[in-house]
Amino acid sequence: MQAVKGAVSRGIHEVLREHWGFSSFRPMQEEVIRSVLEGRDTLALMPTGGGKSLCYQVPSLATGQLCLVVSPLIALMKDQVQRLRSQGIAARAVISGMSHAEMDNAMESAALGRLSFLYLSPERLATDLFKARLPRMPLGLIAVDEAHCISQWGYDFRPSYLRIAEIREQVPEVPVLALTATATTQVAEDIIQKLGLSRPQLLRASFDRPELVFWISRGEDKFGRLLRILENVEGSAIIYLRDRRGTVRLARSLSQHGIGAEAYHAGLSSADRDRVQQAWTKGTLRCVAATNAFGMGIDKPDVRVVIHMDPPPDLESYYQEAGRAGRDGKKSYAFLLTGPGDAERALERMEQSFPSLAEVRMVYQAMADLNGIAMGSGLLESYTVDLDALSERTGYRRANVASALKTLELDGRLALSSGLRSPSRVLMIADHKVVYHMRVSDGHKGPLLEALLRLYGGLFEEPAIIDEARLAKLTGWSIATVSDRLRALDEQRVLSYRPRNDLPTATLLQPRQDADRLIIDPVALSDRKQRARARLDAMLVYTASDEHCRSRMVLDYFDESRVSDCGQCDVCTRRRKNEHPETRIDRAGILGEMNRDPYERRVDRDDGRAV
Ligand code: ADP
Ligand code: MG
Repeated sequence: MQAVKGAVSRGIHEVLREHWGFSSFRPMQEEVIRSVLEGRDTLALMPTGGGKSLCYQVPSLATGQLCLVVSPLIALMKDQVQRLRSQGIAARAVISGMSHAEMDNAMESAALGRLSFLYLSPERLATDLFKARLPRMPLGLIAVDEAHCISQWGYDFRPSYLRIAEIREQVPEVPVLALTATATTQVAEDIIQKLGLSRPQLLRASFDRPELVFWISRGEDKFGRLLRILENVEGSAIIYLRDRRGTVRLARSLSQHGIGAEAYHAGLSSADRDRVQQAWTKGTLRCVAATNAFGMGIDKPDVRVVIHMDPPPDLESYYQEAGRAGRDGKKSYAFLLTGPGDAERALERMEQSFPSLAEVRMVYQAMADLNGIAMGSGLLESYTVDLDALSERTGYRRANVASALKTLELDGRLALSSGLRSPSRVLMIADHKVVYHMRVSDGHKGPLLEALLRLYGGLFEEPAIIDEARLAKLTGWSIATVSDRLRALDEQRVLSYRPRNDLPTATLLQPRQDADRLIIDPVALSDRKQRARARLDAMLVYTASDEHCRSRMVLDYFDESRVSDCGQCDVCTRRRKNEHPETRIDRAGILGEMNRDPYERRVDRDDGRAV
């Protein structure tokens, strides 16, 4: 924001109040915003839920300049764009799965200075469509959300993030704000280097969550322990498992015990996912038994307990997932239930996530076949990823297919995005005259154009979400006919029609090649595996250890030192009990219950080491 240094048209507190109705900033928000307004490159490390979005939204609205937001999470981008638009702020997104015309339209709006925010998924940065527009954009700030994705050391590396450095070179005077919730010092340094931040200001909010009680419970009967926890901690709960089928089984068992629970995983229809998430958010459903697909974009303040039935693959994921409890600052619990064989299974899962070259080739081939991608074509095109179909075609399990795709992504061949859940959209491409002519002269498509223009405004300026059923009613045709004719109009390039889509997509970042010649850099592969192994080891050490305060251990991992022990985790509680055996610790509450945990009894008997 060099050009506007000191030219802030509105105060940042004013913007915060006017647009969000908030009276004060959260810790570190103001520091980050001021740094950005000074035109400095900034790296902000703030916990999930800490309010990172406002750190780029507020300064951009204050200066009135366009902010480019790069984010890997399409669902979140769509959510943000929707939220901003409902606040009357001009925001658009350019993401995979959109038609060329839609992308073109959004980027042109940005170049014409009509937007405050342009959200972009990273693989779009490489497109000519974008690069040609960039110099014309009245850009004040580049915000890089989930910036840890640029680091190979991080747990969620995405090669297309490396592209950000390229646009940096094109507009060197525009400051960059990198944001992340999970960065060890090593990853933070990597972010600074890979983004080419110059003399960056590094601002870190504390990740400490004093209201959150971390507790590890060991033993055989996980379900029994889960029941006891849910009987003792009232309020909303999330229970994390590693496999989809497990979530369904668990939800059923809980329901049979009179505890309201539903399953949530990426394999459910978007209608089911929405239903579960909404019921849970409203509080009519108490528990969600979920895979890690549940979480992104969840913004529920009063989650009282998060329970992990298995150890996650790294402490980064664990802290993010557990951290969904207690956002309202009230006392909450994060339980990790472990049992015999957990560590072995976690190692096995990790091994499986690194498929052989032969497997990767098979999946690549199958994807190309299923989508009819010809040799040498497909660059930057997005294709549907149907894990079930790929699994059937290759004979591999879904999890292995997913790992093979992830490997292709890490190798820079494609970019994956989870279920887009995008509704049907239409944007007029032909000019008014052509459309008007068709409307009156084409007996087949005329009535459809008529209905479209009657029902939806601004179709020539911006894509609109349409409903084929309403169009069917108005034209008197079947929904299938409406869709067919919309498709025909799309082919004629009169309009761009994107039917609703629920499946994840893959965008090819390199043209399709011969699967047999596909090479995955073996060194990179083994490096990646070693790093994944190191992260898992850290997770397992945390799980197995009984010596250090849990909060302290987690914060240590993120290179933040805690001055004192938390005094409330299982380790701290046990220590206090050993030092003052006469004290009764919260007998009525959950801690009392946990004191009757089989593991706890074992601790009383022997030297305190878990078996
Ligand atoms: P993050 O990206 O850091 O996980 P978000 O930007 O999604 O967090 O913000 C999380 C929630 O906190 C949002 O609901 C947001 O409206 C809210 N929030 C952010 N800043 C403030 C503030 N200063 N006062 C009150 N609520 C805030
Ligand atoms: Mg965020």
